[in-house]
Amino acid sequence: MGPDAAQRVGKIYGSNHGQFAPVTSSLDSPIWVHSSAVHGQGVFATRHIAAGETVIEYVGEVITMAEAIARHPHDAANPDHTFYFHLDDGRVIDALAHGNASKWINHSCRPNCVPDEVQGRIFIQTRRPVYKGEELTFDYGLFSDEPMSEALKARYACRCGAKKCRGTMLALR
Ligand SMILES: [Zn+2]
Repeated sequence: MGPDAAQRVGKIYGSNHGQFAPVTSSLDSPIWVHSSAVHGQGVFATRHIAAGETVIEYVGEVITMAEAIARHPHDAANPDHTFYFHLDDGRVIDALAHGNASKWINHSCRPNCVPDEVQGRIFIQTRRPVYKGEELTFDYGLFSDEPMSEALKARYACRCGAKKCRGTMLALR
């Protein structure tokens, strides 16, 4: 893949895949990382989690969009896979080096969690009760500067298995 292509895909941000680190204390962490049926690794509930509970903060290095594009891709062999989370003010959280378990949370079109941005920080909260052993997911809602096309959707294909799966992790707006 040439530098031009890398630049293009560098404008897509989402979050994906890291190591284990609880949001509060390791003694009461409600989650753990394990291999997932959805994709690679996933994050699972170790106990019942009530609706509206913050399970983890999406942490990492907060960088500018220009820096994020310069760092992309994290993995040349898998350029569409990033550890970025896009903030409302245009900055990006890069979880590659300083992330925690949150970067392993998989996408779902019918997720049980939702990211909540509070003053430039991202907290992953449950949007319904989650049972012990369930995999945690949120909707990545990825976006791209490229025109929407079937090829672009396919590059970010979703296999979440939800009845109303939209077939892609891109936000279709
Ligand atoms: Zn889906």
